[in-house]
Amino acid sequence: MEKPRFIIEASEAKSLAQSKGLTLTQLLPNIVKSAQPLARVPISKFHVAAVGVGISGRIFIGVNVEFPNLPFHHTIHAEQFLLTNLSQNKETQLQYLAVSAAPCGHCRQFLQEIRGASDIPLLITNSDSSDFTSLSQFLSHPFGPHDLLPKHVPLFLEPRHNDLSLLDLEAEASIDDDSIAGSNGYNNNNQLKIAALEAANESHAPYSESPSGVALLDSSGNVYKGSYMESAAYNPSLGPVQAAIVGFIAGGGDGAAEYGDLVEAVLVEKEDAVVKQESTARLFLSSISPNCRFNVFLCASNNNINKN
Ligand SMILES: [Zn+2]
Repeated sequence: MEKPRFIIEASEAKSLAQSKGLTLTQLLPNIVKSAQPLARVPISKFHVAAVGVGISGRIFIGVNVEFPNLPFHHTIHAEQFLLTNLSQNKETQLQYLAVSAAPCGHCRQFLQEIRGASDIPLLITNSDSSDFTSLSQFLSHPFGPHDLLPKHVPLFLEPRHNDLSLLDLEAEASIDDDSIAGSNGYNNNNQLKIAALEAANESHAPYSESPSGVALLDSSGNVYKGSYMESAAYNPSLGPVQAAIVGFIAGGGDGAAEYGDLVEAVLVEKEDAVVKQESTARLFLSSISPNCRFNVFLCASNNNINKN
């Protein structure tokens, strides 16, 4: 069996299918099966893999990730992992979706954040049928973005920029550069701050208008970004630190990344946000990676800054 990874390039996917005499969509159950061992499920032991084909022809993989010692709402579902993976790699549409087991209600709801979600062809690979059905078969009367947002608001996977700037960037940068150039010998706080701001600018938070982003640094100097992603139904929303963990796990390639390798985390969120991430992100990080430093920086939308 090939070593599973979290993205398969379009050309590779095509030749892999051809080598097995399958079409791309017929190949998906094989990929789901090979991805299931990547799930991190110390509590349930129930391995879920969700595999999506993007409009570019690339294949993306998501798995479920559980965190012992934390409340269940910190859990990352496989479909959430998958959509985050698509978004972090600038894929703008999901063409096909294959999941090892029928999506839970939480994920049926979460998927509604994609425009045209009801029409997405969905295959359940542990069922008797090898036919795709549409997502609307699983959630027939969806509540979603169309109930709360004007049509022109960008939905998940659609390009957006939230027009946020850090408050007092220069003063913070000069202080932090001194304080961070410590025993590890790297001087990265400004870089992490910029990455977290980029993630906040890409955040899908149209319901609270409280976008936020996290950047994580590992001991090898790699940076992983995560954007907060809201659901119209609120609770299935995915926090920015969980989204960054998706980047961290996917960036590990073979799924071996260990949370203890995280050395620094930065959260950027709005000063006047009605949804604040700081406390829950701090709790989460202190549980999974107790030695990871955590810094928070505030931002504001440029509209507000220009008014002052
Ligand atoms: Zn789920």
